[in-house]
Amino acid sequence: MVNSTVAPALTYWGQFQEISQHNADLNVAEKLWAAWYAWMQNDVLATGIMSFMMHELVYFGRSLPWIFIDSFGLFKGYKIQSGKVPSLREQWDCAKFVLLSHFTVELPQIWLFHPMAQFFGLSTSIPFPTFLTMAYQIAIFFVMEDAWHYFSHRALHWGPLYKAIHKIHHQYSAPFGLAAEYASPIEVMILGFGTVGCPIVWCAFTGDLHILTMYVWIVLRLFQAIDAHSGYEFPWSLHHFLPFWAGADHHDLHHEKFIGNYASSFRWWDYLLDTEYTPDALKRRRQNKGVSDKKAQ
Ligand SMILES: [Zn+2]
Ligand SMILES: [Zn+2]
Repeated sequence: MVNSTVAPALTYWGQFQEISQHNADLNVAEKLWAAWYAWMQNDVLATGIMSFMMHELVYFGRSLPWIFIDSFGLFKGYKIQSGKVPSLREQWDCAKFVLLSHFTVELPQIWLFHPMAQFFGLSTSIPFPTFLTMAYQIAIFFVMEDAWHYFSHRALHWGPLYKAIHKIHHQYSAPFGLAAEYASPIEVMILGFGTVGCPIVWCAFTGDLHILTMYVWIVLRLFQAIDAHSGYEFPWSLHHFLPFWAGADHHDLHHEKFIGNYASSFRWWDYLLDTEYTPDALKRRRQNKGVSDKKAQ
């Protein structure tokens, strides 16, 4: 990390100032980052605490606007399953379950993250990677995770796996933001591998990945998952501008019908493998069936 001769009793801000004096070329975020690792004096703890706090803040922070929207009956015209607004009680029960899972299942795994990251060569050093490097790597992670999610989620809908694992996530047939991680611990591990494992696999092959890129990716992936469960479809939703983006419109139907629309971020796998569940896809399937029935006659 940063080469600074600092007394062990320095406060976090003391570390920050010390690093600022010796590394004038770094930006504020880089100095804050370096001061955190220098102050903690334990990289495993530093990464573990930062990862866990980031996950909690982003998960519940991003869910809050959706809780307000549901509680105050805002944007009613944009609710996908209009009659099914979750009560505060339902949201509270869901939040308790998710919190319990975060502290008992995810926290112990997060402590393993730094040693694993080091093993596969993820960097924690400064300066940070450029914006362009982060952007193209994150775009690749979105594509990789989406493929992993499609096939493992589709497998989770196979009878025995559905009953044993995935049924919990489908408790809410009209999803809401907080329900994104309402799932069996086994499911959290299987689907979580797509989010954490894809960048690790990428790094194992290329040797080029910074933990900050991983964090930005996880934040964006959390936004994607929570928004896909929000239950609201707006004229300004992303898939109107990026037609291959999945969004709430795509995943809400999956919860309502329990079939089709298995992918997380994009629509291409469901389209290519004919598992789309949209009015257009159903019409297309009916037409195709009509043609093959005629041919059979
Ligand atoms: Zn499902
Ligand atoms: Zn879901």
